[in-house]
Amino acid sequence: MSTGDPRHARRKLLLDELGLTPLWRARDAGRPEAVDIRPTAIEDSAVQTGSRQADTSHVDVLKERRAEILRMGWEQLQASVAGCVACPLCESRSRTVFGVGDPNADWLCVGEGPGAQEDATGEPFVGPAGHLLDNMLAAIDLKRGRNVFITNIVKCRPPGNREPAPDEADRCEPYLARQIELIRPKLIIALGKTAASNLLHTNASLSSLRARLHQYLDIPVIVTYHPAYLLRNLPAKAMVWEDLCFARSTMTTLLQLEN
Ligand code: URA
Repeated sequence: MSTGDPRHARRKLLLDELGLTPLWRARDAGRPEAVDIRPTAIEDSAVQTGSRQADTSHVDVLKERRAEILRMGWEQLQASVAGCVACPLCESRSRTVFGVGDPNADWLCVGEGPGAQEDATGEPFVGPAGHLLDNMLAAIDLKRGRNVFITNIVKCRPPGNREPAPDEADRCEPYLARQIELIRPKLIIALGKTAASNLLHTNASLSSLRARLHQYLDIPVIVTYHPAYLLRNLPAKAMVWEDLCFARSTMTTLLQLEN
């Protein structure tokens, strides 16, 4: 899509330089169609109740909700996530988990969804997997809160730490899409299969997605194992180390190409 914006042309050159071809593009790669949105704060509950939208199709309501979320600023987005009742996960959660870190970060790490400790504290990756993630970040000279933002595909804990259902991930997708638009990270690391599948819209195995660059819109994405998987499979550490080195060298190249 040519926008005529010189920044897009530059970005395209940069991605070409990295040898990035869009193998998998995020669904709805462009902004959703403009729709007539009510000026009030989003009524998430409207998604669930039929009466007020008796004459509006379910799909239109979801599109409208997505378009409204994609117009939110950071604080409005935080408030919307905190009050979200768009899927059944809201019924069992204690707290929503928006994400943590630098909202202008170059790096974005995306996991699956909050676990018990994250649900209790409202911060992502604070349990054992979180400690491991911190160590992974330290291995490439990154620190939680400094030039990294950490979030998840879903912002509420799936009961029993099960994988988020496709419908739950779909309802949460506009939040992540807007976070990515606002943060504009230079590089995204997808932690585990759920993050990779939802960001890249593929069912390919994690092992087949590793060790190459993908794209979410025009942002390079690197896929690696989820830290919780690593806790159970120590031999995978060597592969994660390779992925992290790959991520670090990709970032170095991105920064060089930008200068
Ligand atoms: N696992 C995740 O994917 N995210 C968290 O926030 C915690 C554990």
